[in-house]
Amino acid sequence: MRLIIMGPPGAGKGTQAAFISDKYGIPAISTGDIFRANVSAGTPLGVEAQRYMDAGEYVPDEVTNSMVRNRIAEDDAATGFLLDGYPRTVAQVAELDDMLATSGLTLDAAVVLTVDGEEIVQRLLERAKTEGRPDDTEEVIRRRQEVYAEQTAPLIDLYRERGLLVEVDGLGEVGDVTRRVLAAIDGATKA
Ligand code: AMP
Repeated sequence: MRLIIMGPPGAGKGTQAAFISDKYGIPAISTGDIFRANVSAGTPLGVEAQRYMDAGEYVPDEVTNSMVRNRIAEDDAATGFLLDGYPRTVAQVAELDDMLATSGLTLDAAVVLTVDGEEIVQRLLERAKTEGRPDDTEEVIRRRQEVYAEQTAPLIDLYRERGLLVEVDGLGEVGDVTRRVLAAIDGATKA
C-alpha cells in the first residue's frame, strides 16, 4: 500500500499517520520529522532546513525531494509507505510521480484531512504549550496556514482529478477521526 496524507498544519496528520502505519504495516515517513531530527543532530541538512522551518516557509524542493528519494529507497519502504507531509508543492508531486514510475509503482490513495482554519490555529497554539515546537508561535502558525493554502491546497484538486483523493473530516475525537480515515482508505482501495 502506498499512501500520502495531506491537510493543513495542525489537522492531525502525524497522529493519524501513526494509526494508518500500524494498520497496514507500512512505515509512516514524515518529512517534518526527518527535518526536525536533522536540526536536532546539527547535520548540514538540518542547518539548511532550520531557517525555513522557523519562518514557517517550505524547505526548497530540491532539498526535500532528494531526502524523500533516499528515504523511500530504504528496505522498510519496499512493500509500501505512507508519506506524511510530502508532496506539498506541485513540483514535489511531479518528483514523486517520477520516483514511483522509475520503480513501476503507483499511489493507492491520497488522504486529505479537512478542518476549519481558525480551529486549527487554536489547536496548534495548544500544542505549543506542551510540545514547545519553535514553529508553533502564532505568527509562524498563521504563515504556515497561508503557505499551505497557496502551495499545497491546489494538490487536492490534482489528486481528485486522478481519482485518488480520499477526503476525511478531521474534526472531532482522535478515535472517531481514525475510524473514518481507516474506513475511507479501505473503501477507496478495495475497488
Ligand atoms: P510538518 O511537521 O509536516 O508540519 O513540517 C514542519 C516543517 O518542515 C514545515 O513547515 C516545512 O518548513 C518543513 N517541511 C516538511 N515537509 C516539507 C515538504 N514536503 N516540503 C517543504 N518543506 C517541508
